Amino acid sequence: MNIQTTDSSTLERVPAALREWLAKPRPMLINGKWVQAKSGKVFDVNDPATEMRLTTVAEGDAADIDAAVRAARAALDGPWGRMSPSVRGRIIHRIGDLILEHLDELAQLESLDNGKPFSVARVADVPLSADMFHYMSGWATKIEGKYIPISNLAAPGQYLSFTRPEPIGVVGQIIPWNFPLLMAAWKLAPALATGCTVVLKVAEETPLSALRLGELLMEAGLPDGVVNIVPGFGDTAGAALAAHPGVDKVAFTGSTEVGRLIVQAASRDLKKVSLELGGKSPNIVLEDADIDATIAGASAGIFFNHGQCCNAGSRLFIQEKIFDKVAAGIAANAEKIKLGVGMDPLTEMGPLVSEVQYGRVTGYLKSGMEEGARALTGGAAAGNRGYFVKPTVLVDTKPAMKVVREEIFGPVLVAIPFKEADDSLIAAANDTIYGLAAGVWTRDGAKAQQIANRLKAGTVWINCYHVFDSALPFGGYKQSGWGREMGQAVLSNYLETKAITSRIH
Ligand code: NAP
Ligand code: MG
Repeated sequence: MNIQTTDSSTLERVPAALREWLAKPRPMLINGKWVQAKSGKVFDVNDPATEMRLTTVAEGDAADIDAAVRAARAALDGPWGRMSPSVRGRIIHRIGDLILEHLDELAQLESLDNGKPFSVARVADVPLSADMFHYMSGWATKIEGKYIPISNLAAPGQYLSFTRPEPIGVVGQIIPWNFPLLMAAWKLAPALATGCTVVLKVAEETPLSALRLGELLMEAGLPDGVVNIVPGFGDTAGAALAAHPGVDKVAFTGSTEVGRLIVQAASRDLKKVSLELGGKSPNIVLEDADIDATIAGASAGIFFNHGQCCNAGSRLFIQEKIFDKVAAGIAANAEKIKLGVGMDPLTEMGPLVSEVQYGRVTGYLKSGMEEGARALTGGAAAGNRGYFVKPTVLVDTKPAMKVVREEIFGPVLVAIPFKEADDSLIAAANDTIYGLAAGVWTRDGAKAQQIANRLKAGTVWINCYHVFDSALPFGGYKQSGWGREMGQAVLSNYLETKAITSRIH
């Protein structure tokens, strides 16, 4: 079957080979084979810039999840479980190489599917995904236990004790649509480095780049069943994965609301759970900050990826004396941003990912204005096709407003003045259920450090924002999550520790 995708304006911008790939219904990856859903169902995947169908994808449900979990278990008990760390590391490294070899193609897919500019996906999403596999490949050979001196008083010196870190087992991973390939990489790479096997449920809005990655995983030499990729809906495939008795651990990224459902589903058999959830991150500007750098950094802090970042700097606290200047500077930047189709090289900001997100974000804009906020710029949707929303700066807000308290996940900044960098500023910045990230802008290094120490957030950026690295742990305090992604810290999400003691005298 060929799929009718009529919008020539975007599809003409990608190579014929990719158009051909999209012209076939995309199957799911189970036990090393590309298969259709057991139910035979497929769902449409759309281009959010044109609202046109890009392709159809196999719609997995509980039956496919069950087959995938069985395949993952067999792979864990099979060649993958016996593979030497060094060979495992080489395969993981090869995955990173293959991602870079397919840089343009993956960036094109990401742009078509998610709406983000191709130019951004090409320099950010795809290279960062490759880097995650490259970085994690090195850990495969460095997961070490410890010799532990014990003081067994009854028989001192008679025992030798050490710890042996072991893969936690079969991991269910559920990811969102904001960085489809990168979220897959953040999840898969550490699970593979630690020797786990995986069933990955990709977001219904953006399954394509992960499915292409699945082809590259097999090309890299990953044994069958080590990674299984099941596209489908959250309340069917996702829920079945979170509750499946054959899954040892669930790793989830998405909304705090669904995070709670995951915990409930996993609690029946007390599966291990890690969660990377929402945020409403404070970004604090002191009056001695470098104004130009701050305006540029705070603009990127909220507008990068159309504000669809869990760590977006969405509450900007600006010291009174410079409030008007900084807010106006960000508004001026917002007005210069060129909105358009992601595959257009001139586009700086694409559409939001879906009609649902478009409805949510424009709903927040409406609620903000109704409650008395004022848009310095933006404040509404843009264009008459696709899910475009104007980058927005809201002022005259009150702490109780929904736009101040809730995660909008769109290009909407709330700018809030403050008098002094004192306890009340810290209290206001921490006045949120979330605790994912924060920013501080000042030339006073000591003051920046004092503030950073008091912010309840898993990441604090000083005079910068959105600086991510595969080596740096990332994750949330409070309701922003459990555990950390990336760096050495993520390994503990996927390991059990076994203490072994032998009698030696
Ligand atoms: P979401 O509903 O939390 O979706 C994240 C993933 O969880 C998707 O793969 C989703 O499947 C799946 N899912 C949904 N319901 C599930 C269930 N009952 N059991 C298991 N899995 C389930 O997030 P969203 O709908 O994409 O966006 C809603 C809001 O979440 C956003 O506005 C934003 O505030 C937040 N969000 C946060 C992040 C982050 O990085 N922390 C990322 C994206 C969104 P399907 O979507 O395929 O149905
Ligand atoms: Mg959803």
